[in-house]
Amino acid sequence: MPLEIYNLSKTYRNDRSGGTVQALADVSLTIPGGMYGLLGPNGAGKSTLMRILATLQEPDAGRIQLGNIDVINQKDEVRKTLGYLPQEFGVYPKARAEDLLDYFAVLKGFSQRKSRNEVVEALLRKTNLWDVRKQKLGGYSGGMRQRFGVAVALLGNPKLLIVDEPTAGLDPAERVRFLNLLSELGENSVVILSTHIVEDVSELCTNMAIINKGRILLEAQPLQAVSMLKGKIWRKLIEKNALQELTRTHQVISTRLLSGRTLVHVQSSHTPGSGFEQVEPDLEDVYFSTMVGNNNIEYTPKQDSKP
Ligand code: ADP
Repeated sequence: MPLEIYNLSKTYRNDRSGGTVQALADVSLTIPGGMYGLLGPNGAGKSTLMRILATLQEPDAGRIQLGNIDVINQKDEVRKTLGYLPQEFGVYPKARAEDLLDYFAVLKGFSQRKSRNEVVEALLRKTNLWDVRKQKLGGYSGGMRQRFGVAVALLGNPKLLIVDEPTAGLDPAERVRFLNLLSELGENSVVILSTHIVEDVSELCTNMAIINKGRILLEAQPLQAVSMLKGKIWRKLIEKNALQELTRTHQVISTRLLSGRTLVHVQSSHTPGSGFEQVEPDLEDVYFSTMVGNNNIEYTPKQDSKP
């Protein structure tokens, strides 16, 4: 069941300043099945898009189609088949995981105790929380809490799962465990992962978009986007104070401190000069190249065929 987003816009009015923020500006995307990464920095508009997809917020304009369902006008239909893990997932610290999941299952309509027990057990096992099911959620680590959030989001076997910035704040081991769990889910539903962490997308997603300031800058398959930069990314280790001059003469797409010096990545279709070494591009290069407006991968927004 693909998800089609057409010309979505959303502007917030700031009551205090009286100004406005355009969080989404004419966003159109096609999201096929499997894992989809929505990548962008803080403030890009990711959560706004996720909340609109999760039917928690109204756009000012635009249309969303999930298979045959008109997402904006048939919210109840979407909710039947939607799982949503928000950025801030609050839990009741004194509740035990098993009890709270059971409670959410009741709310989701599992009224028969026997089948509910089965569903709760299956989800606790799937999210690797079975052994700690009797523990209180207040004692859970960040990663355990996120996995519990996934268990809740998966109640009712959703065809569309939306996870908003799930790996922020997880330690590396928890992050890997969490991403592995998501990748299993992507096998039989649409999973949209919003993140500002490039590796989340490169390790996991078969399709992706890059968003900044409410606009889609790139819609691509990660591997394909990376291969388009082949032969064009060069690196050089420079002194910190040489950076300003280099940015005047070269297309510097990213910089990183390395043992007190600065490692720059430059985009160029020919040798950028002495001391530069060609590197294999990765998704981080795609991301930074796109963010600075260098990417020559064309993005042409699709037109809505319906009025
Ligand atoms: P992201 O999830 O990518 O960090 P958001 O969708 O949260 O981006 O925010 C996009 C922009 O909209 C930001 O400039 C943010 O400050 C603004 N914004 C988000 N929610 C609100 C709100 N409820 N009221 C006013 N401005 C908001």
